[in-house]
Amino acid sequence: MKSIQIAIDGPASSGKSTVAKIIAKNLGYTYLDTGAMYRSATFLALRHGLTMTDEQAIVALLEEYPIRFDRSHTGEQLVFVGETDVTLPIRDNEVTNNVSVVAALPLVREKLVAMQQEIARSGGIVMDGRDIGTVVLPHAELKIFLIASVEERALRRYKENQEKGIETDLDTLKEEIAARDYKDSNRAVSPLKAAEDAITFDTTGVTIDGVVDFISKKTKEILDK
Ligand code: C5P
Repeated sequence: MKSIQIAIDGPASSGKSTVAKIIAKNLGYTYLDTGAMYRSATFLALRHGLTMTDEQAIVALLEEYPIRFDRSHTGEQLVFVGETDVTLPIRDNEVTNNVSVVAALPLVREKLVAMQQEIARSGGIVMDGRDIGTVVLPHAELKIFLIASVEERALRRYKENQEKGIETDLDTLKEEIAARDYKDSNRAVSPLKAAEDAITFDTTGVTIDGVVDFISKKTKEILDK
C-alpha cells in the first residue's frame, strides 16, 4: 500500500498533536511532534542559563545533547535530550513562555528542520507544527491547517491542566496563547501560516473524533486515488 505524508499545522492548543497521534496510530505511520523539538531546544537553553537569543550556543547544545524520541513500556512517546528524559519538563510554563523566541532563531530552525526532513524520509508520516506544510514537507500529499477560537483553546488547556492537578487562571492562559500565536505568526523565518494547498478546518465546538474523522476521510480519498 502506498504511504503518504500528512502535515498538520495550526496555532497553539488547536488540537494538532492529539489528532495527529491518533491518525498516525490508525495508519501505522510515524508521528513527529515538531513542537517538542523547539521545546527541547528551549529547555536546554534555560537549563544552561543561556540568553534565549544566543543561537550559536543553543545550536551547540543541540549538538552536544541530541533530541531523540523513544517509547515508554505503555507505548507513550518520550522525548530525550542526550540521556535526559524531558517529556514532562518541556511542557512547563517557563518553556512554553520562552519557546517562541527560540523558535524564531534561523540557525535553530535550520538544524531542526533538517532533522524533521530526515525522519520523514523513512515513509508514511504524520507531522504537526507551524511550518510543516509550507517549509518542512512542501510536497506532503495532505496538508491540514487546524484553527479554533482563543477562548476554546484556552479552555482546553485549562481542562488539561486541571486533570494534571495544575492550577491556572483562564484569562492568563488566553493571554499566553494569544501572545504565542502573535509571535509565531509574525516572525521573519517560517511564520505560522496555512500553505496555499492546505485545507483549513475550524475545530471550535468539534470533538476530537470529529476532527479525526475529517482527516481520515481526506486521507482515504488520497490513498484510494
Ligand atoms: O506545538 P507546540 O505548542 O508544542 O509548539 C511549541 C512552539 O514551538 C510553538 O509555539 C512555536 O513557537 C514552535 N514551533 C515552531 N515550528 C514548528 C513547531 C513548533 O516554530 N514546526
